[in-house]
Amino acid sequence: MISKAVEMTVLLNKLFPGQSTRVLAAMAEVKRDVFVDPGWKRMAYTDRSLPIGHGQTISKPATVFRMLSALEPVFGGKLLETGSGSGYLASVASRLFSRVYCVERVLGLVESSRTNLRQTGAGNVVVRYGDGSSGWTDNSPFDGILYSAGAPALPASLVDQLREGGLAGVPVGTKSSQEFVVWKKSNGVLEKVSSFTCSFVPLIGKEGWNG
Ligand code: SAH
Repeated sequence: MISKAVEMTVLLNKLFPGQSTRVLAAMAEVKRDVFVDPGWKRMAYTDRSLPIGHGQTISKPATVFRMLSALEPVFGGKLLETGSGSGYLASVASRLFSRVYCVERVLGLVESSRTNLRQTGAGNVVVRYGDGSSGWTDNSPFDGILYSAGAPALPASLVDQLREGGLAGVPVGTKSSQEFVVWKKSNGVLEKVSSFTCSFVPLIGKEGWNG
């Protein structure tokens, strides 16, 4: 029998042709129902953001697909994710990157995401509790950086934490609507390479919005 996760990737491939088939293969391996609140499990394989507790939501599968596909040139390297929430994106990313470093500001989500990551066999992921709006200097440089929460502007700290040739994707805009912009570090500066319209929860912290 074809799993629900596989069925979901078949649909995503139809909706967004030409994105990374490696991301689809990774998403097909991860049970998304593990990551959502108990009352929402039957909706886990629809293309919706769903509650994960603490007033936060798991991103839509299509958004996760597009975010990770944009980083295909740096697969195999080290990834930083700020705003790891339930751990779903990190679990998919663990199959595409050698190491995944996550920062999450809600302690309850740090704890539940560690359990979810263990349950889905993502052994190369670490989750730190705290404000990740300025990245994670100690483990830099990264080959890829993804922000899963929307910032008012590109956090200035990121340029130093990205390896030359590395890619950073950050939703930038207002508290309710953003552009997910992907930048590449070339000759020490960040150049915009692509973008798409999106809607993330706000990034709260030093280089985000005021809590
Ligand atoms: N990728 C996640 C999406 C979670 S929603 C998943 O797959 O479930 C975005 C998350 O960003 C929320 O959990 C929120 O608590 C977190 N967040 C917001 N501001 C943050 C900050 N400054 N540092 C770390 N996490 C932050």
